[in-house]
Amino acid sequence: MANSENLNVLQSTQTVIHEALKRLGYGEDMYELLKEPLRVLTVRIPVRMDDGKVKVFTGYRAQHNDAVGPTKGGVRFHPDVNEDEVKALSIWMSLKCGISDLPYGGGKGGIICDPRDMSFRELERLSRGYVRAISQLVGPSKDIPAPDVMTNSQIMAWMMDEYSRIREFDAPGFITGKPLVLGGSHGRETATAKGVTIMIDKALQKRGIPLQDARVIIQGFGNAGSYLAKFMHDAGARVIGISDVHGALYNPEGLDIDYLLDRRDSFGTVTKLFKETLTNQEILEQECDILVPAAIENQITLDNAERIRAGIVVEAANGPTTLEATKILTERGVLLVPDVLASSGGVIVSYFEWVQNNQGYYWTEKEVHDKLLEVMEKSFETVYNVHSTRGVDMRLAAYMVGVRKMAEASRFRGWV
Ligand code: NAD
Repeated sequence: MANSENLNVLQSTQTVIHEALKRLGYGEDMYELLKEPLRVLTVRIPVRMDDGKVKVFTGYRAQHNDAVGPTKGGVRFHPDVNEDEVKALSIWMSLKCGISDLPYGGGKGGIICDPRDMSFRELERLSRGYVRAISQLVGPSKDIPAPDVMTNSQIMAWMMDEYSRIREFDAPGFITGKPLVLGGSHGRETATAKGVTIMIDKALQKRGIPLQDARVIIQGFGNAGSYLAKFMHDAGARVIGISDVHGALYNPEGLDIDYLLDRRDSFGTVTKLFKETLTNQEILEQECDILVPAAIENQITLDNAERIRAGIVVEAANGPTTLEATKILTERGVLLVPDVLASSGGVIVSYFEWVQNNQGYYWTEKEVHDKLLEVMEKSFETVYNVHSTRGVDMRLAAYMVGVRKMAEASRFRGWV
Protein backbone atom coordinates (compact mmCIF):
# COMPACT_ATOMS: atom_id res chain seq x y z
CA MET A 1 0.00 0.00 0.00
CA ALA A 2 1.51 3.29 -1.10
CA ASN A 3 -0.40 5.50 1.31
CA SER A 4 0.30 6.48 4.88
CA GLU A 5 -2.97 5.45 6.50
CA ASN A 6 -3.01 3.25 9.58
CA LEU A 7 -3.88 -0.33 8.62
CA ASN A 8 -3.72 -1.69 12.19
CA VAL A 9 -7.22 -3.10 12.67
CA LEU A 10 -7.06 -2.88 16.47
CA GLN A 11 -6.17 0.81 16.45
CA SER A 12 -8.86 1.52 13.84
CA THR A 13 -11.57 -0.20 15.84
CA GLN A 14 -10.44 1.60 19.02
CA THR A 15 -10.82 4.93 17.21
CA VAL A 16 -14.45 4.17 16.34
CA ILE A 17 -15.26 2.71 19.79
CA HIS A 18 -13.91 5.92 21.34
CA GLU A 19 -16.08 8.10 19.12
CA ALA A 20 -19.16 5.90 19.64
CA LEU A 21 -18.81 6.03 23.45
CA LYS A 22 -18.30 9.80 23.33
CA ARG A 23 -21.47 10.27 21.26
CA LEU A 24 -23.40 8.08 23.72
CA GLY A 25 -22.22 10.26 26.61
CA TYR A 26 -19.72 7.84 28.21
CA GLY A 27 -16.43 9.06 29.64
CA GLU A 28 -12.82 8.00 29.23
CA ASP A 29 -13.16 5.37 31.98
CA MET A 30 -15.56 3.35 29.85
CA TYR A 31 -13.24 3.65 26.87
CA GLU A 32 -10.33 2.43 29.02
CA LEU A 33 -12.35 -0.68 29.86
CA LEU A 34 -13.58 -1.45 26.35
CA LYS A 35 -10.61 -0.53 24.18
CA GLU A 36 -8.87 -3.89 24.79
CA PRO A 37 -10.07 -7.42 25.66
CA LEU A 38 -10.36 -8.25 29.38
CA ARG A 39 -8.25 -11.37 28.80
CA VAL A 40 -5.87 -12.61 26.11
CA LEU A 41 -4.21 -15.99 26.40
CA THR A 42 -1.22 -16.94 24.25
CA VAL A 43 -0.57 -20.66 23.97
CA ARG A 44 2.17 -22.82 22.49
CA ILE A 45 0.88 -26.07 21.03
CA PRO A 46 3.31 -28.92 20.32
CA VAL A 47 2.04 -31.14 17.50
CA ARG A 48 3.56 -34.41 16.31
CA MET A 49 3.65 -34.01 12.52
CA ASP A 50 3.27 -36.91 10.08
CA ASP A 51 7.06 -37.04 9.51
CA GLY A 52 7.58 -37.82 13.23
CA LYS A 53 8.98 -34.39 14.14
CA VAL A 54 7.32 -32.06 16.64
CA LYS A 55 6.29 -28.61 15.49
CA VAL A 56 5.23 -25.98 18.02
CA PHE A 57 2.38 -23.69 16.95
CA THR A 58 1.35 -20.38 18.55
CA GLY A 59 -2.32 -19.74 19.26
CA TYR A 60 -4.44 -17.08 20.96
CA ARG A 61 -7.80 -16.75 22.67
CA ALA A 62 -9.12 -13.25 23.44
CA GLN A 63 -12.19 -12.47 25.54
CA HIS A 64 -13.22 -8.89 25.03
CA ASN A 65 -15.96 -8.28 27.57
CA ASP A 66 -18.20 -10.67 29.49
CA ALA A 67 -20.44 -8.18 31.27
CA VAL A 68 -23.47 -9.21 29.18
CA GLY A 69 -22.81 -12.96 29.24
CA PRO A 70 -20.27 -15.57 28.12
CA THR A 71 -17.94 -14.56 25.31
CA LYS A 72 -18.42 -16.01 21.85
CA GLY A 73 -16.41 -16.06 18.65
CA GLY A 74 -14.63 -18.11 16.04
CA VAL A 75 -11.19 -19.67 15.79
CA ARG A 76 -9.13 -18.76 12.74
CA PHE A 77 -6.36 -20.94 11.25
CA HIS A 78 -4.16 -18.70 9.09
CA PRO A 79 -0.44 -17.88 8.67
CA ASP A 80 -1.12 -14.15 9.24
CA VAL A 81 -2.91 -14.55 12.60
CA ASN A 82 -1.45 -12.16 15.19
CA GLU A 83 -2.39 -10.88 18.62
CA ASP A 84 -3.69 -7.47 17.52
CA GLU A 85 -5.89 -9.08 14.87
CA VAL A 86 -7.37 -11.54 17.38
CA LYS A 87 -7.99 -8.68 19.82
CA ALA A 88 -9.74 -6.60 17.14
CA LEU A 89 -11.79 -9.59 16.02
CA SER A 90 -12.93 -10.17 19.63
CA ILE A 91 -14.05 -6.53 19.89
CA TRP A 92 -15.96 -6.86 16.61
CA MET A 93 -17.68 -9.95 18.03
CA SER A 94 -18.80 -7.91 21.05
CA LEU A 95 -20.24 -5.31 18.69
CA LYS A 96 -22.03 -7.93 16.58
CA CYS A 97 -23.57 -9.46 19.71
CA GLY A 98 -24.60 -5.99 20.90
CA ILE A 99 -26.20 -5.04 17.57
CA SER A 100 -28.07 -8.35 17.37
CA ASP A 101 -29.04 -8.19 21.07
CA LEU A 102 -27.52 -11.61 21.88
CA PRO A 103 -26.72 -12.48 25.54
CA TYR A 104 -22.98 -12.64 24.82
CA GLY A 105 -19.79 -10.63 24.79
CA GLY A 106 -17.17 -11.07 22.10
CA GLY A 107 -14.33 -13.57 21.95
CA LYS A 108 -11.98 -14.78 19.25
CA GLY A 109 -9.19 -17.23 18.74
CA GLY A 110 -6.56 -18.02 16.19
CA ILE A 111 -3.62 -20.25 15.44
CA ILE A 112 -0.67 -19.25 13.27
CA CYS A 113 -0.62 -22.13 10.78
CA ASP A 114 -1.42 -22.92 7.18
CA PRO A 115 -4.01 -25.72 6.94
CA ARG A 116 -3.38 -25.92 3.17
CA ASP A 117 0.02 -27.47 3.96
CA MET A 118 -1.20 -29.83 6.69
CA SER A 119 -2.69 -33.32 6.58
CA PHE A 120 -6.09 -34.23 8.01
CA ARG A 121 -4.48 -35.96 11.02
CA GLU A 122 -2.08 -33.08 11.69
CA LEU A 123 -5.07 -30.71 11.72
CA GLU A 124 -6.87 -32.99 14.16
CA ARG A 125 -3.86 -33.05 16.52
CA LEU A 126 -3.52 -29.25 16.30
CA SER A 127 -7.25 -28.70 16.98
CA ARG A 128 -7.20 -31.01 20.00
CA GLY A 129 -3.96 -29.47 21.27
CA TYR A 130 -5.48 -25.98 21.06
CA VAL A 131 -8.49 -27.06 23.16
CA ARG A 132 -6.22 -28.64 25.78
CA ALA A 133 -4.23 -25.40 25.92
CA ILE A 134 -7.25 -23.11 26.38
CA SER A 135 -9.57 -25.50 28.27
CA GLN A 136 -9.35 -23.60 31.58
CA LEU A 137 -10.55 -20.41 29.94
CA VAL A 138 -13.45 -21.69 27.81
CA GLY A 139 -16.72 -23.57 28.36
CA PRO A 140 -20.45 -23.55 27.50
CA SER A 141 -21.16 -20.75 29.98
CA LYS A 142 -17.74 -19.05 29.81
CA ASP A 143 -16.52 -18.68 26.24
CA ILE A 144 -17.91 -20.55 23.24
CA PRO A 145 -15.73 -20.98 20.12
CA ALA A 146 -16.97 -21.40 16.51
CA PRO A 147 -15.52 -21.64 12.96
CA ASP A 148 -13.84 -18.77 11.16
CA VAL A 149 -11.34 -18.48 8.30
CA MET A 150 -10.03 -21.95 7.29
CA THR A 151 -11.80 -23.80 10.10
CA ASN A 152 -14.94 -25.88 9.56
CA SER A 153 -17.47 -28.26 11.13
CA GLN A 154 -14.95 -31.15 11.23
CA ILE A 155 -12.53 -29.03 13.26
CA MET A 156 -15.40 -28.02 15.57
CA ALA A 157 -16.24 -31.72 16.03
CA TRP A 158 -12.66 -32.57 17.10
CA MET A 159 -12.59 -29.59 19.45
CA MET A 160 -15.93 -30.55 21.02
CA ASP A 161 -14.80 -34.15 21.44
CA GLU A 162 -11.56 -33.07 23.12
CA TYR A 163 -13.38 -30.72 25.51
CA SER A 164 -15.95 -33.42 26.38
CA ARG A 165 -13.10 -35.86 27.17
CA ILE A 166 -11.31 -33.34 29.40
CA ARG A 167 -14.49 -32.50 31.31
CA GLU A 168 -15.76 -36.10 31.25
CA PHE A 169 -19.28 -35.15 30.12
CA ASP A 170 -20.94 -34.54 26.80
CA ALA A 171 -20.69 -30.81 26.10
CA PRO A 172 -22.30 -29.90 22.76
CA GLY A 173 -22.79 -26.30 23.96
CA PHE A 174 -19.02 -25.84 24.25
CA ILE A 175 -18.68 -24.94 20.57
CA THR A 176 -20.92 -24.03 17.63
CA GLY A 177 -20.69 -24.72 13.91
CA LYS A 178 -20.68 -28.47 14.61
CA PRO A 179 -21.91 -31.13 12.17
CA LEU A 180 -25.69 -31.71 12.43
CA VAL A 181 -25.25 -35.19 13.92
CA LEU A 182 -23.24 -33.72 16.82
CA GLY A 183 -25.80 -31.07 17.74
CA GLY A 184 -25.12 -28.56 14.97
CA SER A 185 -27.92 -26.30 13.79
CA HIS A 186 -29.65 -26.34 10.46
CA GLY A 187 -28.61 -23.24 8.55
CA ARG A 188 -25.31 -22.63 10.41
CA GLU A 189 -23.07 -23.41 7.44
CA THR A 190 -24.82 -20.84 5.24
CA ALA A 191 -25.74 -18.38 8.01
CA THR A 192 -23.18 -15.67 7.28
CA ALA A 193 -24.06 -15.60 3.59
CA LYS A 194 -27.81 -15.70 4.36
CA GLY A 195 -27.34 -12.76 6.68
CA VAL A 196 -25.48 -10.84 3.98
CA THR A 197 -28.34 -11.48 1.51
CA ILE A 198 -30.77 -10.04 4.08
CA MET A 199 -28.55 -6.94 4.36
CA ILE A 200 -28.34 -6.63 0.57
CA ASP A 201 -32.14 -6.78 0.34
CA LYS A 202 -32.50 -4.04 2.93
CA ALA A 203 -29.86 -1.84 1.29
CA LEU A 204 -31.46 -2.28 -2.16
CA GLN A 205 -34.84 -1.33 -0.70
CA LYS A 206 -33.34 1.89 0.69
CA ARG A 207 -31.92 2.65 -2.75
CA GLY A 208 -35.08 1.58 -4.64
CA ILE A 209 -33.23 -0.99 -6.79
CA PRO A 210 -34.93 -4.34 -7.49
CA LEU A 211 -32.76 -7.37 -6.75
CA GLN A 212 -33.43 -8.83 -10.21
CA ASP A 213 -31.71 -5.85 -11.86
CA ALA A 214 -28.73 -5.77 -9.52
CA ARG A 215 -25.15 -6.50 -10.61
CA VAL A 216 -23.04 -8.00 -7.84
CA ILE A 217 -19.28 -8.39 -7.38
CA ILE A 218 -17.99 -10.61 -4.54
CA GLN A 219 -14.37 -10.69 -3.40
CA GLY A 220 -13.61 -14.08 -1.82
CA PHE A 221 -15.14 -17.42 -2.75
CA GLY A 222 -14.90 -19.26 0.59
CA ASN A 223 -17.67 -20.03 3.06
CA ALA A 224 -19.12 -16.52 3.05
CA GLY A 225 -18.48 -15.56 -0.59
CA SER A 226 -19.44 -18.76 -2.38
CA TYR A 227 -22.78 -19.31 -0.61
CA LEU A 228 -23.55 -15.64 -1.14
CA ALA A 229 -22.84 -15.97 -4.88
CA LYS A 230 -25.23 -18.93 -5.00
CA PHE A 231 -27.99 -17.11 -3.09
CA MET A 232 -27.64 -13.97 -5.23
CA HIS A 233 -27.61 -15.99 -8.45
CA ASP A 234 -30.66 -18.06 -7.42
CA ALA A 235 -32.54 -14.90 -6.42
CA GLY A 236 -32.11 -13.56 -9.96
CA ALA A 237 -29.31 -11.02 -9.42
CA ARG A 238 -26.40 -10.98 -11.88
CA VAL A 239 -23.12 -12.01 -10.26
CA ILE A 240 -20.62 -10.37 -12.63
CA GLY A 241 -17.42 -10.82 -10.61
CA ILE A 242 -15.90 -13.18 -8.06
CA SER A 243 -12.38 -13.59 -6.75
CA ASP A 244 -10.13 -15.73 -4.59
CA VAL A 245 -6.57 -15.40 -3.32
CA HIS A 246 -5.15 -16.06 -6.80
CA GLY A 247 -7.20 -13.59 -8.86
CA ALA A 248 -10.65 -12.65 -10.12
CA LEU A 249 -13.17 -13.62 -12.80
CA TYR A 250 -15.30 -10.97 -14.46
CA ASN A 251 -18.10 -11.10 -17.03
CA PRO A 252 -20.54 -8.16 -17.32
CA GLU A 253 -23.17 -10.59 -18.68
CA GLY A 254 -22.99 -12.67 -15.49
CA LEU A 255 -20.85 -15.64 -14.42
CA ASP A 256 -21.93 -19.29 -14.40
CA ILE A 257 -22.02 -19.58 -10.62
CA ASP A 258 -23.14 -23.22 -10.45
CA TYR A 259 -20.19 -24.23 -12.64
CA LEU A 260 -17.73 -22.24 -10.49
CA LEU A 261 -19.14 -23.70 -7.26
CA ASP A 262 -18.72 -27.15 -8.71
CA ARG A 263 -15.05 -26.51 -9.50
CA ARG A 264 -13.96 -24.64 -6.35
CA ASP A 265 -11.78 -26.45 -3.82
CA SER A 266 -12.36 -26.69 -0.08
CA PHE A 267 -10.26 -23.53 0.53
CA GLY A 268 -12.48 -21.45 -1.78
CA THR A 269 -10.19 -21.23 -4.80
CA VAL A 270 -11.29 -21.63 -8.40
CA THR A 271 -9.71 -18.87 -10.51
CA LYS A 272 -6.49 -20.85 -11.13
CA LEU A 273 -8.47 -22.92 -13.64
CA PHE A 274 -8.92 -19.89 -15.91
CA LYS A 275 -6.47 -18.00 -18.14
CA GLU A 276 -8.36 -14.70 -18.38
CA THR A 277 -8.30 -13.29 -14.86
CA LEU A 278 -8.20 -9.85 -13.25
CA THR A 279 -6.37 -8.98 -10.06
CA ASN A 280 -8.20 -8.60 -6.77
CA GLN A 281 -7.65 -4.84 -6.93
CA GLU A 282 -9.06 -4.63 -10.47
CA ILE A 283 -12.24 -6.54 -9.61
CA LEU A 284 -13.01 -4.17 -6.73
CA GLU A 285 -12.98 -1.24 -9.15
CA GLN A 286 -15.40 -2.62 -11.77
CA GLU A 287 -18.79 -0.97 -12.14
CA CYS A 288 -21.59 -2.76 -10.26
CA ASP A 289 -24.54 -2.07 -7.96
CA ILE A 290 -23.35 -4.09 -4.99
CA LEU A 291 -19.77 -4.83 -3.99
CA VAL A 292 -19.23 -7.45 -1.29
CA PRO A 293 -15.72 -7.81 0.15
CA ALA A 294 -15.85 -11.36 1.61
CA ALA A 295 -12.16 -12.24 1.95
CA ILE A 296 -9.74 -10.37 4.20
CA GLU A 297 -8.95 -7.04 5.88
CA ASN A 298 -7.87 -3.70 4.40
CA GLN A 299 -9.08 -4.18 0.83
CA ILE A 300 -10.78 -0.80 0.32
CA THR A 301 -8.31 1.86 1.40
CA LEU A 302 -7.23 5.43 0.73
CA ASP A 303 -5.56 4.02 -2.41
CA ASN A 304 -8.71 2.83 -4.18
CA ALA A 305 -11.77 4.26 -2.38
CA GLU A 306 -12.25 7.00 -5.01
CA ARG A 307 -12.29 4.38 -7.74
CA ILE A 308 -14.93 2.08 -6.21
CA ARG A 309 -17.87 2.26 -8.62
CA ALA A 310 -20.49 0.37 -6.57
CA GLY A 311 -23.47 2.26 -5.11
CA ILE A 312 -23.71 -0.19 -2.20
CA VAL A 313 -20.86 -1.91 -0.32
CA VAL A 314 -21.82 -4.73 2.04
CA GLU A 315 -18.95 -6.01 4.19
CA ALA A 316 -19.16 -9.78 4.59
CA ALA A 317 -15.49 -9.90 5.64
CA ASN A 318 -14.28 -8.48 8.93
CA GLY A 319 -12.47 -5.16 8.52
CA PRO A 320 -12.26 -4.94 4.70
CA THR A 321 -12.59 -1.13 4.57
CA THR A 322 -10.30 1.30 6.38
CA LEU A 323 -11.61 4.30 8.30
CA GLU A 324 -10.31 6.75 5.70
CA ALA A 325 -11.96 4.74 2.94
CA THR A 326 -15.22 4.61 4.92
CA LYS A 327 -15.14 8.42 5.02
CA ILE A 328 -14.53 8.71 1.28
CA LEU A 329 -17.25 6.20 0.36
CA THR A 330 -19.76 7.90 2.68
CA GLU A 331 -18.96 11.35 1.25
CA ARG A 332 -19.44 9.93 -2.24
CA GLY A 333 -22.94 8.71 -1.29
CA VAL A 334 -22.11 5.01 -1.24
CA LEU A 335 -24.34 3.09 1.17
CA LEU A 336 -21.90 1.04 3.27
CA VAL A 337 -23.28 -1.78 5.41
CA PRO A 338 -20.44 -2.35 7.90
CA ASP A 339 -18.99 -5.73 8.93
CA VAL A 340 -20.28 -5.68 12.50
CA LEU A 341 -23.81 -5.52 11.10
CA ALA A 342 -23.53 -7.31 7.73
CA SER A 343 -21.60 -10.40 8.79
CA SER A 344 -23.46 -11.09 12.03
CA GLY A 345 -25.55 -13.95 10.53
CA GLY A 346 -22.90 -16.46 11.62
CA VAL A 347 -22.92 -15.53 15.29
CA ILE A 348 -26.71 -15.20 15.37
CA VAL A 349 -27.18 -18.78 14.12
CA SER A 350 -24.36 -19.89 16.42
CA TYR A 351 -26.43 -18.46 19.25
CA PHE A 352 -29.43 -20.43 17.96
CA GLU A 353 -27.26 -23.57 17.91
CA TRP A 354 -26.18 -23.00 21.53
CA VAL A 355 -29.80 -22.40 22.61
CA GLN A 356 -30.84 -25.67 20.91
CA ASN A 357 -27.96 -27.52 22.62
CA ASN A 358 -28.94 -26.10 26.00
CA GLN A 359 -32.59 -27.04 25.65
CA GLY A 360 -31.93 -30.34 23.82
CA TYR A 361 -34.64 -29.51 21.31
CA TYR A 362 -33.85 -28.86 17.67
CA TRP A 363 -35.42 -26.50 15.15
CA THR A 364 -36.16 -26.85 11.43
CA GLU A 365 -34.19 -24.92 8.82
CA LYS A 366 -37.24 -22.72 8.24
CA GLU A 367 -37.49 -21.84 11.94
CA VAL A 368 -33.80 -20.92 11.97
CA HIS A 369 -34.10 -18.82 8.85
CA ASP A 370 -37.27 -17.00 10.00
CA LYS A 371 -35.63 -16.13 13.32
CA LEU A 372 -32.43 -14.96 11.57
CA LEU A 373 -34.47 -12.75 9.25
CA GLU A 374 -36.31 -11.18 12.15
CA VAL A 375 -33.11 -10.39 14.09
CA MET A 376 -31.18 -9.04 11.11
CA GLU A 377 -33.96 -6.89 9.68
CA LYS A 378 -34.39 -5.30 13.09
CA SER A 379 -30.63 -4.74 13.43
CA PHE A 380 -30.42 -3.08 10.02
CA GLU A 381 -33.32 -0.72 10.77
CA THR A 382 -31.90 0.18 14.20
CA VAL A 383 -28.47 1.02 12.75
CA TYR A 384 -29.93 2.82 9.72
CA ASN A 385 -32.12 4.88 12.01
CA VAL A 386 -29.13 6.01 14.12
CA HIS A 387 -27.24 6.78 10.89
CA SER A 388 -30.11 8.98 9.61
CA THR A 389 -31.19 10.66 12.81
CA ARG A 390 -27.72 11.29 14.29
CA GLY A 391 -26.09 12.16 10.94
CA VAL A 392 -23.22 9.67 11.39
CA ASP A 393 -21.83 7.16 8.91
CA MET A 394 -23.15 3.60 9.00
CA ARG A 395 -20.00 2.25 10.69
CA LEU A 396 -20.17 4.71 13.57
CA ALA A 397 -23.94 4.13 13.83
CA ALA A 398 -23.36 0.37 14.10
CA TYR A 399 -20.68 0.87 16.78
CA MET A 400 -23.02 3.16 18.74
CA VAL A 401 -25.73 0.48 18.70
CA GLY A 402 -23.25 -2.34 19.35
CA VAL A 403 -21.34 -0.85 22.27
CA ARG A 404 -24.34 0.43 24.23
CA LYS A 405 -25.49 -2.83 25.87
CA MET A 406 -22.02 -3.89 26.98
CA ALA A 407 -21.30 -0.42 28.38
CA GLU A 408 -24.61 -0.47 30.28
CA ALA A 409 -23.96 -3.99 31.59
CA SER A 410 -20.43 -3.03 32.67
CA ARG A 411 -21.82 -0.03 34.53
CA PHE A 412 -24.55 -2.05 36.29
CA ARG A 413 -21.91 -4.57 37.39
CA GLY A 414 -19.96 -1.69 38.89
CA TRP A 415 -16.89 -2.18 36.68
CA VAL A 416 -16.85 1.48 35.71
P1 NAD B 1 -12.72 -18.86 3.86
O1 NAD B 1 -11.38 -19.24 4.34
O2 NAD B 1 -13.77 -19.91 3.69
O3 NAD B 1 -12.58 -18.11 2.44
C1 NAD B 1 -11.73 -17.01 2.23
C2 NAD B 1 -11.76 -16.62 0.75
O4 NAD B 1 -10.96 -15.43 0.58
C3 NAD B 1 -11.18 -17.68 -0.19
O5 NAD B 1 -11.86 -17.65 -1.41
C4 NAD B 1 -9.72 -17.18 -0.37
O6 NAD B 1 -9.14 -17.64 -1.58
C5 NAD B 1 -9.96 -15.68 -0.39
N1 NAD B 1 -8.74 -14.93 -0.06
C6 NAD B 1 -7.82 -15.23 0.88
N2 NAD B 1 -6.83 -14.32 0.86
C7 NAD B 1 -7.16 -13.42 -0.10
C8 NAD B 1 -6.54 -12.26 -0.61
N3 NAD B 1 -5.36 -11.83 -0.13
N4 NAD B 1 -7.16 -11.58 -1.61
C9 NAD B 1 -8.34 -12.03 -2.09
N5 NAD B 1 -8.97 -13.14 -1.67
C10 NAD B 1 -8.38 -13.81 -0.68
O7 NAD B 1 -13.21 -17.71 4.84
P2 NAD B 1 -14.71 -17.25 5.16
O8 NAD B 1 -15.21 -18.03 6.31
O9 NAD B 1 -15.50 -17.18 3.89
O10 NAD B 1 -14.43 -15.77 5.70
C11 NAD B 1 -14.19 -14.68 4.83
C12 NAD B 1 -14.33 -13.39 5.61
O11 NAD B 1 -15.64 -13.34 6.19
C13 NAD B 1 -13.36 -13.25 6.79
O12 NAD B 1 -13.04 -11.88 6.96
C14 NAD B 1 -14.17 -13.74 7.96
O13 NAD B 1 -13.70 -13.24 9.19
C15 NAD B 1 -15.52 -13.17 7.58
N6 NAD B 1 -16.60 -13.85 8.28
C16 NAD B 1 -16.84 -15.18 8.09
C17 NAD B 1 -17.85 -15.78 8.80
C18 NAD B 1 -18.20 -17.23 8.61
O14 NAD B 1 -19.14 -17.71 9.24
N7 NAD B 1 -17.52 -17.95 7.73
C19 NAD B 1 -18.62 -15.05 9.71
C20 NAD B 1 -18.37 -13.69 9.85
C21 NAD B 1 -17.35 -13.09 9.13
